[in-house]
Amino acid sequence: MSRFWSPVVQSLTPYTPGEQPQMQRLVKLNTNESPYGPSPKALAAIRQQTSDDLRLYPDPEGVALKRAIADLHGLDPKQVFLGNGSDEVLAHVFLALLKQTDAVLFPDITYSFYPVYCKLFGIEYKNIPLGPDFEIQVADYESPNGGIIFPNPNAPTGRSIPRSEIEALLSKNKNSVVVIDEAYVDYGTESCIPLLRGANCPENLLVVHTLSKSRALAGLRVGFAVGHPALIEGLERVKNSFNSYPLGRLAQAGAIAAIEDQAHLEASSTKVIQTRAQLVKELAVLGFDTIPSSANFIFTRHPKHAGVKIYQALRDRGIIVRHFKAARIEEFLRITIGTDEQSRELIGALTEILASA
Ligand SMILES: *Cc1c(COP(=O)(O)O)cnc(C)c1O
Repeated sequence: MSRFWSPVVQSLTPYTPGEQPQMQRLVKLNTNESPYGPSPKALAAIRQQTSDDLRLYPDPEGVALKRAIADLHGLDPKQVFLGNGSDEVLAHVFLALLKQTDAVLFPDITYSFYPVYCKLFGIEYKNIPLGPDFEIQVADYESPNGGIIFPNPNAPTGRSIPRSEIEALLSKNKNSVVVIDEAYVDYGTESCIPLLRGANCPENLLVVHTLSKSRALAGLRVGFAVGHPALIEGLERVKNSFNSYPLGRLAQAGAIAAIEDQAHLEASSTKVIQTRAQLVKELAVLGFDTIPSSANFIFTRHPKHAGVKIYQALRDRGIIVRHFKAARIEEFLRITIGTDEQSRELIGALTEILASA
């Protein structure tokens, strides 16, 4: 605390990311990183960019990367916005599109960065409770609002809803922006991006993606949003009032190669989905209840053992998972899907913990 802090800084409660412990030999299942490496083509492209050209500023518009993303998704490059990780994209989305007179709506249990941006930017928000099984019920989002945002699949529950429900929401909500955060879409959820193709692109749908999860590039910091060109133009205005060069040369080169390597993405996502199905089965044998997941993590609880106790006991054995001290979800653990070997270590540790409790 310093008397020089501005009033807004004094009142902030910043987002707390999952820890990145420096201990060796950890089984790290707490921040939804990919257990597999990025595309070797991305690594080669980054290496190739490591030259004296780093003295030069990068392309502020990221033209080549926008074209690669547009080509992959059947869009126009004018429909693509780039940011230093999707967290930065989301920050610009809140300021450029969701700071309105009416409150922005998002679920009571969701990505905990959303309320942090609202407080930073002075945006009113209203939490809409998830249903009894932690499902997003789109009919609950029909009141007048300054925008709607949720992840699909939702975090930290992993539950997804079909695209048809988002289309129904769009048809009822024409006067504000609907933002779908598809950070985990590659693990078995229908993307909303096809709705943005061609002349019928809705004016008010924005879809946000990251290269941090399924493309295994959390360390590179690349995210993007796609939507109507007029929404993108609003985002560009905010970005160019903040930082004209959010993506460096290495990030742009690596991201282009990663986007072009769809085969690598599909192979690693398929593996994660298989490991997830196996892990859910083995957890059920131990008595855990797991929410059906379409993500690279699961949200699970044991009816007889407190979430925080299991979290601590796993930690004592060098296995790091995520526990949230928030209403409704305190008994749950969020566990990132790792390799099959990491799943075996996890199940072994849980078997011991439950036996000794
Ligand atoms: C991980 C995550 C992000 C942020 O990803 P970055 O691109 O690494 O900033 C955004 N939204 C959700 C729901 C996430 O889980």
